[in-house]
Amino acid sequence: MLSQFGYKRVASVKEAVDAAGRPGARILAGGTDLLGCLRDEVFTAGALVSLKGIKELKGISPRPGGGLRIGALTTLTEIAENRQVASSYPALAQAAAAAASPQLRNQGSVGGNLCQRPRCWYFRGDFPCLRKGGQTCFAVMGENEFHCIFGGGPCYIVHPSDTAPALVSLDAKVSIAGPHGVRTIPLASFFVLPEVSVVKENVLMPGEVLTEILLDAPRPGARSAYRKVRERGAFDFALAGAAVVVSLAGGKVQTARVVLSGVAPVPWRSAEAEKALVGKSLDAATAASAAAAAVKDATPLPRNEYKAPLVRGVLEETLIRLSEGG
Ligand SMILES: Cc1cc2nc3c(=O)[nH]c(=O)nc-3n(C[C@H](O)[C@H](O)[C@H](O)COP(=O)(O)OP(=O)(O)OC[C@H]3O[C@@H](n4cnc5c(N)ncnc54)[C@H](O)[C@@H]3O)c2cc1C
Repeated sequence: MLSQFGYKRVASVKEAVDAAGRPGARILAGGTDLLGCLRDEVFTAGALVSLKGIKELKGISPRPGGGLRIGALTTLTEIAENRQVASSYPALAQAAAAAASPQLRNQGSVGGNLCQRPRCWYFRGDFPCLRKGGQTCFAVMGENEFHCIFGGGPCYIVHPSDTAPALVSLDAKVSIAGPHGVRTIPLASFFVLPEVSVVKENVLMPGEVLTEILLDAPRPGARSAYRKVRERGAFDFALAGAAVVVSLAGGKVQTARVVLSGVAPVPWRSAEAEKALVGKSLDAATAASAAAAAVKDATPLPRNEYKAPLVRGVLEETLIRLSEGG
């Protein structure tokens, strides 16, 4: 049941920062994740601060000198259907299109997608787990088939977002407005592992609002793709997925960024896979060795050993797709 809370619709980022900094306030974008958490009593809110009236947080626009700016309130549908995103950043268009269902993509914003809370059934359920301030991660001894195989401990969530791994692979930056001004940081530094904080998934402090995502122009010869495997075909979170960006010259991989989804508490960059790609021809043999390298250091829990071969397979397929032109 939803408990009572206040509601404030703000018209500017400054008003949002002021209102979101008050005790008990929570930021509301599309509400597809937040309202479910409140309904299921995962946490409570004193007041919801709706960003919907802030025009500057909406839409996709070119940046001076190349690249794109994507406002935090831009919906996943707008991203999936944007022509420039599809042509210059296919991994992002594919990730946005693979997230949730058409209705949720129409309502859900990219800012909310990056900031959504984890789907661990102990966190979402009636369990006083570590992430809710308790003493125990119930996944360790419990039903851990959907939990992480990289970066776990003391909590073993996976990050639920599809756009996050794609945007990290594209080396996106995010701007964050707060009581002390605006800071712009690489999205890769936005997420935090449980060993850094067990109660939050990112660096946002009270009163901070994610305002925009910044993408640089793609490198010459760049190709990118995102692919995920899910239990239920219609719509579901990733069991495992891979976002890959490579740049090619003279038939060889010049640069590579490989970011895995559904397998770690943050979008998981695989330095091992990247190393196995750079300097090589992008072909089936390279794809197989990079995918094998990506899972070499996986540490599965008792019930999720299947995730290592799954992510290896999805990465290999993604690389083969890229070798064929994307
Ligand atoms: C059934 C179901 C299936 C789903 N499947 C997938 C899936 O397959 N892949 C996937 O990636 N996602 C999936 N989702 C999640 C969904 O895509 C996200 O919930 C959606 O993108 C969140 O956007 P929103 O605008 O609704 O966020 P909200 O629900 O409004 O907010 C989510 C969280 O982010 C915070 N927040 C929102 N905007 C900002 C901001 N600008 N600055 C700071 N904090 C902010 C809120 O306070 C809240 O904690 C699914 C959700 C459901 C309910």
